[in-house]
Amino acid sequence: MSKVIKSDDEWRAELSSEEYEITRRAATEQAFTGEYCETKTPGKYLCRCCGEPLFDSRTKYDSGSGWPSFYEPINSDVVDTKEDRTMFMLRTEVLCSKCDAHLGHVFPDGPEPTGLRFCMNSASLKLDPTEPSE
Ligand code: FE
Repeated sequence: MSKVIKSDDEWRAELSSEEYEITRRAATEQAFTGEYCETKTPGKYLCRCCGEPLFDSRTKYDSGSGWPSFYEPINSDVVDTKEDRTMFMLRTEVLCSKCDAHLGHVFPDGPEPTGLRFCMNSASLKLDPTEPSE
């Protein structure tokens, strides 16, 4: 996979200030405020920054957390994970493999079949409802 690498100024020009803060500076949107928190529309969720398909709507579930939640990415290569010790917690950060966008975190309290909860920021994703769910 070829990496998408852009300067902070380039990202800032392409993204809204909220999208920039979340995807490029690892901010977190307020719970229950994101565009895709309750969305059940079939489709693929693309990276807001580079357009790479990251999650399928079929793996989205209602976690009650206030953020869009998925039990797995489209495949294991599309996301990277990184230890995150900020906010006085040990968490696992999830990033887009292609452009290093901050997407959210993954927690070990998800449903079957993976037991994982990919807790994502709506601002890091873009739903493509035309993309058929596989
Ligand atoms: Fe990306």
